[in-house]
Amino acid sequence: MGELRAGIIPVTPFQQNCTILFDEVERRGVVVDPGGDVDKIRAAISENDLVIEAIWITHGHLDHAGGAMELKEALGVDIIGPHEADEPLLSRIADQARNYGIPGLRNCTPDRYLAEGEVVSFGGHIFEVLHCPGHAPGHVVFYNRAAGFAHVGDVLFHGSVGRTDLPGGDHDALIRSIKEKLLPLGDEIGFICGHGPGGRFGDERRSNPFLV
Ligand SMILES: [Zn+2]
Ligand SMILES: [Zn+2]
Repeated sequence: MGELRAGIIPVTPFQQNCTILFDEVERRGVVVDPGGDVDKIRAAISENDLVIEAIWITHGHLDHAGGAMELKEALGVDIIGPHEADEPLLSRIADQARNYGIPGLRNCTPDRYLAEGEVVSFGGHIFEVLHCPGHAPGHVVFYNRAAGFAHVGDVLFHGSVGRTDLPGGDHDALIRSIKEKLLPLGDEIGFICGHGPGGRFGDERRSNPFLV
């Protein structure tokens, strides 16, 4: 087993950070949040000689899950996550995409929903599932303890937090998720988020205006 690596492909007009997590040596991995622009994602997979074992979804918003069914069919892999509380969001993606004028996005039906405390993995890289509601009721975070890394989706951003004005949003729940589940993992934990640059939990704990 080699080191855990991550590659980011910004997708959809929302510039969502579709992320390929993979093993540097074995070249196997997973795609997190293929929200759209599936041709771009498939090109990155083949240019980097990767074998994709599964699709992982952090939450049910269209920019995160709208391309999942197309990618699943192309690769023949399962869609894992988010928590089932996001089912209403996953089943409204096509309607929402039409409202935004984004072609090609589809409703998403996961093969398996996730819950707090479950574990997902590929090639020996183990990720704990943290249920972090607030931005979306079924939002999950994928935490790799060995690598000191978390994929936090739209829960936490560098210098900001997820918006909570969308259906199912709850600002107090979001701040609780961050303060009670993410920050206690440690200041040194590095994160990738759904939009913009990632960072480290310690920097957010000290200077993120929504948390201090
Ligand atoms: Zn979102
Ligand atoms: Zn997003």
